[in-house]
Amino acid sequence: MKGLAGKTALITGASSGIGQAITFRLAQEGCNVVINYRSKPEDAKRTEAIALQKAQDAGHEIQALLIQGDVSQEADILRMINTTLQTFGQLDILVNNAGIQSEYPSHDIPTDRFDQVIAVNLRGAYLCARETIKHLLDKGRSGVIINVSSVHEIIPRPMYLSYAISKGGMGSLTKTLALEYADRGIRVNAIAPGATVTPINESWVSDTEKQEVVEGFIPMGRAGTADEMAAAVAFLASDEAAYITGQTLFIDGGLTLYADFREAWSA
Ligand code: NAD
Repeated sequence: MKGLAGKTALITGASSGIGQAITFRLAQEGCNVVINYRSKPEDAKRTEAIALQKAQDAGHEIQALLIQGDVSQEADILRMINTTLQTFGQLDILVNNAGIQSEYPSHDIPTDRFDQVIAVNLRGAYLCARETIKHLLDKGRSGVIINVSSVHEIIPRPMYLSYAISKGGMGSLTKTLALEYADRGIRVNAIAPGATVTPINESWVSDTEKQEVVEGFIPMGRAGTADEMAAAVAFLASDEAAYITGQTLFIDGGLTLYADFREAWSA
């Protein structure tokens, strides 16, 4: 896609699922990739090896950098951005992908669990964006931030209140930053995946019957793939999307289309 080759992209939570697929796709498009991971160096190394291979197969020579870091820790984020800049001298694309969820009745969420989900999904995304924007403004460079939100940016999610709040907040983060920096060449967008086959959905991905139940709610009749999410990120990061900012692109097989309205149920 136009304008991606030679750029440097930092992807948080890049060693599995959607983040890993985004890393592969951006590498394939010729971006240098910074692979942030929290706790599994072996998964990060495998991600790096495949990303380099994919880039090579596509005719690009790229560099990859692995950085351990917990996005709920400000010091880790500062170190991550500094190391990226020391290595590549630039950061053009930030993908805020790291995310966790936690299931409790809303009247009974332990405060530390609530805080942890917000700290990773929302505060972490903000701090990574803040540091990236500082760098871009300092160098007078244009850049792109893409937040991996969720259909739960707009669909309520009982039993997952902290997750729903974090993704709702991500919508606001996306729009506010987009507006604030639109005149300085910084575009900020989000993708909102629907049900996607990744480790976060271990509970139904590994159980055919449960997966059928999940897919029964999706108008297109199937869950999405991480590659389908990555394709949208590559588009939004590229110059093909040069006039798009402040948008959340829902990639959900029609999940947000009020499937029950497929049948006429009211006069
Ligand atoms: P995943 O569990 O494979 O990916 C999440 C990644 O974030 C993991 O690599 C994990 O190690 C990393 N991570 C977690 N806490 C971290 C921290 N503190 N610091 C750094 N990294 C951390 O699942 P996924 O489905 O690929 O999730 C990626 C993103 O997509 C998440 O933000 C998730 O909310 C979002 N999402 C997923 C779905 C889905 O159905 N899979 C739907 C909507 C949104």
